[in-house]
Amino acid sequence: MIPNKFDYHRATSVDEAIRLMAQHGMDAKLLAGGHSLLPAMKLRLNQPGVLVDIGRLAELRYIKKEGDSLVIGAGATHDDIANSDMARSTLSMLSEAANLIGDVQVRNKGTLGGSLAHADPAADWPAVMIAAHANIELRGPNGSRTVSADDFFTGFYMTALAEDEIITAIRIPAPPKGTHSSYQKFMQPASRFAIVGCAASVTKDGGVCQKVSVALTGLSDTAFRASNVEAALTGKKLTKENIAAAAQAAGEGVMAMGDHFASEEYRLHLAKVFAKRALMAAAE
Ligand SMILES: Cc1cc2nc3c(=O)[nH]c(=O)nc-3n(C[C@H](O)[C@H](O)[C@H](O)COP(=O)(O)OP(=O)(O)OC[C@H]3O[C@@H](n4cnc5c(N)ncnc54)[C@H](O)[C@@H]3O)c2cc1C
Repeated sequence: MIPNKFDYHRATSVDEAIRLMAQHGMDAKLLAGGHSLLPAMKLRLNQPGVLVDIGRLAELRYIKKEGDSLVIGAGATHDDIANSDMARSTLSMLSEAANLIGDVQVRNKGTLGGSLAHADPAADWPAVMIAAHANIELRGPNGSRTVSADDFFTGFYMTALAEDEIITAIRIPAPPKGTHSSYQKFMQPASRFAIVGCAASVTKDGGVCQKVSVALTGLSDTAFRASNVEAALTGKKLTKENIAAAAQAAGEGVMAMGDHFASEEYRLHLAKVFAKRALMAAAE
């Protein structure tokens, strides 16, 4: 439970953090809330020689509207999002998910950027950001770029983030009028990580589903869009029967994870149950 020796630098700006990361290369790691990185270091699963602390950068910690988009700084904590009226009124699944993460201590320190960069297959934010059609803004020594949440999560704890890049912000486009959303999860009782979680947003007009966005987490090696569920519901009346039928497609063709908390079969079953719950809640 004691980490390897490391040097510690507290960055005073994003630019300084990028410079420090470039200077120390593969040996360096960014430290935000520390609620994923520090446990991994204590278990010696991760042994960086240098930590670059971005956890106190005010320039990364905000939630604001820019044009039609909601923009959340990478340093916004889960608690900041849980308590943001702007986030709740844009998509209620943002505050629902934030409130379901860990405990008070985790929510007070853990950040949105840290969670997305860490890409734990059981984390909540990846599914929510995919369902929200979020774009993730990255900055590195060669400038800035944006990656859609759909393309960001590439595998088991893997993302499109380069070693020398920092997530600076997450941009969520305003959903069309008539959109409601929900995040529902079956949680591990101690950590509250998702055994299976589903984020859904539904745009309805006259009781008909005009647009639907569904993403699952916890089921396989990374969060992903449940395109087959979306296809099964788009253009249909939002009846209980149609929602239940569409939710049956959740997890189809997916190689599910199994562990001592839940077998592959059970996770696949939960995917259908929680897709239905999230869609029902969003449709209501
Ligand atoms: C007891 C416990 C319960 C938890 N329960 C849940 C839960 O229910 N649901 C859930 O989703 N999560 C849960 N978590 C994880 C928690 O949400 C973490 O806070 C989060 O995964 C990581 O955020 P962080 O700011 O703490 O990142 P850190 O631990 O500081 O960093 C994690 C990784 O991201 C990198 N990083 C951090 N910030 C950036 C950035 N801006 N740009 C690029 N890379 C960056 C770091 O270098 C590191 O590799 C739990 C954690 C604990 C300890």
